[in-house]
Amino acid sequence: MEQKLIREIEGLETARAFIGTQYAQAIFSNTTHLLGFCFDGTTSFRPGARFGPGSIREASYGLEDYSPYLEKDTQDYNIITMGDLPVYPSKWHITNDFFMEMTKDLDFKKDAIKWIVLGGEHSISYGPIVRHLEHYPDLVVLHLDAHADLRDGYLDEKYSHASIIRRVLDHFTPKNTLIQYGIRSSPRTEFKWMKENGTLMQSLKECCEKLESIPDNRPIYLTLDLDFFDPAFFPGTGTPEAGGEDFHGFMRILKILNRKNFVGADIVELAPMLDPTNNSACFASKVTREVMLALQK
Ligand code: MN
Ligand code: MN
Repeated sequence: MEQKLIREIEGLETARAFIGTQYAQAIFSNTTHLLGFCFDGTTSFRPGARFGPGSIREASYGLEDYSPYLEKDTQDYNIITMGDLPVYPSKWHITNDFFMEMTKDLDFKKDAIKWIVLGGEHSISYGPIVRHLEHYPDLVVLHLDAHADLRDGYLDEKYSHASIIRRVLDHFTPKNTLIQYGIRSSPRTEFKWMKENGTLMQSLKECCEKLESIPDNRPIYLTLDLDFFDPAFFPGTGTPEAGGEDFHGFMRILKILNRKNFVGADIVELAPMLDPTNNSACFASKVTREVMLALQK
């Protein structure tokens, strides 16, 4: 599909291209944009997610362009790698404001502008999700994570990685839906809230059935905290939690998104240095390729 330059961006850090994509400091129509957000300033246990975007890009050099799962090839679509947003290590909101400024006045829907934002810790999903809620008033937010992230702030930080979903809910209207799956560690109060509100899927089957039931034209956004995966497969994350899904389980979910109106995603919480084998970065990179392809229509 033909691309049209919508906006040039100044101030992005340079980045090496993700496999099968070109590198650009600009926003285009009919294009998926990969953007790094290297912030990990509210991390509560083990920091290092600021190195996530670079490691995902670097590990992509070992990946093929073609996905045998989705039978799609990155070469067939307009996908560009943007750099990383400028980050002030302890000042989350400055980077967030930069994202809000650069996406101001765009029309994601009309111009078919899509985003995959790479974290960084989970708090960075705030700006991207809020923007998508503005552009898609009936958005479904699919939240895959080991943690519910429903705290009303954590350790004195309202916009903590442990409160991201709570902050997103501040922007929800009755037209939005939250679907959570993989959650296996949170305070009792958060499990109670999820039960009362029917947001928590108890099994992969239930999650898939719920997604299947969403009308085909309804927009879906994925916020993927990589600690969703079992630490046996994915140890390189700040708050690992036993009992998670594997790649195949994730692909069952993604294959449904591939058929639906999947409009945007963020992939967060890879802390590559916590896994000296580098397997976590390779895993995250492959997951990113699949998400990137599932977004293509
Ligand atoms: Mn988590
Ligand atoms: Mn999270």
